[in-house]
Order: sequence, then C-alpha cells, then structure tokens
Amino acid sequence: MTPAAEPSFRDSVDLMFNRAVALMDLGPGLEQKIRVCNSTYTVRFGVRLRGKIETFTGYRSVHSEHMEPVKGGIRYAPSVNQDEVEALAALMTYKCALVETPFGGSKGGLCIDPRTWEPHELEQITRRFAYELIKRDLINPAQNVPAPDMGTGEREMAWIADQYARMNTTDINAKACVTGKPLNAGGIQGRIEATGRGVQYALRAFFRHPEDAAQAGLSGGLEGKRVIVQGLGNVGYHAAKFLSEEDGAIITGIIERDGAVHSDQGLDVDRVRQWMGAHGTIRGYPGAFFLANGASLLEADCDILIPAAMEGVIHLGNAAAIRAPLIIEAANGPITFGADEILRHSGKVIIPDLYANAGGVTVSYFEWVKNLSHIRFGRLQRRAEEARHQLLVNELERLSADKGLGWTLSPGFKDSYLRGAGELDLVRSGLDDTMRAAYQAMRELWHGRDDVHDLRVAAYVVSIGRVAATYVSKGL
Ligand code: NAD
Repeated sequence: MTPAAEPSFRDSVDLMFNRAVALMDLGPGLEQKIRVCNSTYTVRFGVRLRGKIETFTGYRSVHSEHMEPVKGGIRYAPSVNQDEVEALAALMTYKCALVETPFGGSKGGLCIDPRTWEPHELEQITRRFAYELIKRDLINPAQNVPAPDMGTGEREMAWIADQYARMNTTDINAKACVTGKPLNAGGIQGRIEATGRGVQYALRAFFRHPEDAAQAGLSGGLEGKRVIVQGLGNVGYHAAKFLSEEDGAIITGIIERDGAVHSDQGLDVDRVRQWMGAHGTIRGYPGAFFLANGASLLEADCDILIPAAMEGVIHLGNAAAIRAPLIIEAANGPITFGADEILRHSGKVIIPDLYANAGGVTVSYFEWVKNLSHIRFGRLQRRAEEARHQLLVNELERLSADKGLGWTLSPGFKDSYLRGAGELDLVRSGLDDTMRAAYQAMRELWHGRDDVHDLRVAAYVVSIGRVAATYVSKGL
C-alpha cells in the first residue's frame, strides 16, 4: 500500500494540475476556479436485505460544469470515499476536454463489495442509489450522465436507466441518462471493449512515432513487445486481448488481486480470464509461474507496463524498482505524484490516464448521441454506401471484360470494399480518430515547447487550456 508520506489521490491530481498550470498564463482566479471541485453530494440510504435494514453510503461529485451534462462513471468498491470520488471527477473534466467530448467532469461511487451480494440484492441497492441521485438531477440526460467504472457494468447501467425511465415517464430522451447500457436497453456496439480498445489505439499512436518510442528506449512497433498488465477486469482484459491478438504483443504477466501469473512465452488472455471465471482466482492457472505477492510483478522486466486495476499502485515505495521503460495508465491514477517524479527522472515514459483510458468516455459520448438521435449509427447510409461501391466494382469488371484486360479484383479486397460500415465499424473509427487527434495535440506540446518534458504535463496543458477557453467564452 501507499506509504503515509504520499499525498491523497485528490491532492495527487491537484499537484499534477499545478505542475501544468505553472506553465500557463491563465487570468487571475481562473486557475483556482478550474481546480476546485464544484460540489459533492453524499447520501446514506437504507435497503431492507436479509431480514434487516442495511445502510449504504454513496457519492456523486461534480467537478466542473463548464459544459453540461457532466459525465463520469459510478464505482462500486468498499474503499470508495469522498477524496477518491473527487479526484476521479477532476480527472473526468480534464479527460473530456482532452478528447473533445462536450462534457464537464463528474464521478460517483458506492461503498460496497458487490461480490458479497446476490444479483437481485444488488438490483435493489442500485435502484435505491439511483433514485436518490435522480431526484436531485444527479442523473439526468441533460445534466449528469453516469457510466460504468470499477465494480459496475452493463447490468447496473440498465437498472439505472430503467429507474430513471420509471421516474420520468414522459422524457423522450430518458435512455441518454446513463451510458454503458446493454444493446437491448439503448447501448451502443463497442462500449464494453471501448476503454481497452482505446488503450490499444493510444499505444498504436505512440509507436507510430519512432522518435517517441525512442524516448523510452524502444524501437519498432507493438509486435513482440513484452507486456505486463495489472487487473484483468473490463479495461485490462480488453487491452491485453487486443494487443496480443491483433498487434502481436506478448502478455508476459497478469497481476490480479490474489496474485500474479508470469510466462516468458506469453499468456493466453482469454484462457486466464476463463480460469478466473471458473475458479474465482488467478491462482493455479496452469503453464505459468504463480507469484503470491502479485504486486511484485509490477517491478519485473518488460517493455510495457499496463496498470489497469486501481489508483496508487505505483508509489514512493516501489517507483524506483519499476523496470518497464513505458507505462500506460489504463487505470485512473495508478501512479502517485511522488512516484511520477521518480519515474520521469529515471527516464521512463508515461502515457497518462486522462489520455490512455479516455476510450470509455469517448464511446459513451457516441452512445449518448445515439440515444438523443434515436437511431443506430449507420442505419441510414450503410446499404446506400454498399450500393455505390457495388456500382464501382461492376464498372471495373465491365471495363476489364469489354477491353479484354483480364483484371480480377482479389476476393479479400472485394469483400471488405463492398461491406458498408455498421455501428461497430463507425464506433471504432470514431474512437481511433479521437485517440489519434488527442495524441497529436499532446505530442505537439511535448516536442514543441522547451518547458514541457512529458506527456502528462502536455495532456494537462491541452485540457486546462480548453476548459479555460470555455469559461472565457462564457464571460467568466
Ligand atoms: P473492473 O472492476 O472491471 O476490473 C478491475 C480488475 O482489477 C478486477 O479484475 C479486479 O479483480 C482487479 N483488481 C482489483 N484490485 C486489484 C489489485 N490491488 N491488484 C491487482 N488487481 C486488482 O474495473 P475496470 O472497469 O476495468 O476499471 C479498472 C480501472 O480503469 C479503474 O481505475 C477505472 O477507474 C478505470 N477506468 C475504467 C473505465 C471503464 O470503462 N470501465 C473507463 C476509464 C477508466
């Protein structure tokens, strides 16, 4: 755990903010306005369960309303507290600005260990928590739109959406009150994988620039890179799966809460996940070394380290021992402020959380737009696009036959060219575009300014500048 000398998560985010803002020239008072968390609502509510009333504590924090609705996930974990929720809400503000999703920052949390409750009990608890937030407009399509985070997923989002619809029977945009819903409840294809997919696109963006990879002492692309991932949940699983299956990276280590597995030959991510699902633990996974002290694998030799579980896992106590030259923060806040200093001074490159895990909010944005427009992406144009492509293919084939040229289009080309873009293709394309554009904005500062030495400061400068511009244009 984090040594006592560390600042809290909230303070850590503020210190990172301060480091960036020191390089900016904001108007008097604006810096303070952007930094502070606007409000945090704490609720304690009772639910009758197992013959008695259980009291739960939940939070919804709104960091910045410079754009509305505000956006941010709801986390279920026993360790949830106000400081954590406020830190995560602040990160959401900066993240949304960096990837140009038109939202302010918010976050919610419930102090609960979801594994100790049955699904029907979790539904009762979730609906009651949602009720408390909905009646205060802390869940609302125009004002505050939650999403999944640690410990929550599609199922909880569907309960929240249904609870909102029951309380707002004439709101035609009710489905847009929350994102990360299942497809049949108004969700969008590609949302579950989105954050992990975004981590993959972020790494591709990084390796597309050999000079950037060289800063971490790396060369080439993702092929053959040795990767250690912490947390095989939604984000970590998808990131590891895509990197190994599509980019040829080798997952040499997976760290979970009850230990870690390690194999120089590479781990089969799906098989590890299946093992965890069947046995409730990573322990005993065949064909790999097991380490009871899972966190020690963070310090192992690899090319890319992906902390994808929780905050504060790389801290003053272990930062100096980290060997990975490139760390991508798939989780929020996995590196404390002090650890960040140590890592940077030792030449490590860190792809920061507000960029690295922005895939989730990006696709949430697409889902929200889909809900407000009441139509699936691609529904109008897909077949028209296919018909136009077919015209071109027919014409080429006709020309070839008429002129006796003997041209044949390869079947692979023909199939993929003729297939119009469906919702999943469009979502992935929009996500890829977003991750490339945000990376470009960061690297322009990273390489273009003498006083910006790392991607985190670059990310903060870009996003704070955008939030400031919104305030200024509002006349504040
Ligand atoms: P999740 O609950 O699906 O998965 C978390 C995983 O981490 C679980 O498998 C859990 O067992 C493991 N874990 C927990 N504590 C651990 C520890 N101490 N050591 C090793 N493993 C541990 O959560 P998630 O949605 O994948 O979120 C993970 C991180 O990503 C969080 O920081 C979250 O805020 C961030 N994030 C998530 C999303 C999203 O769309 N879900 C979006 C942006 C950021």
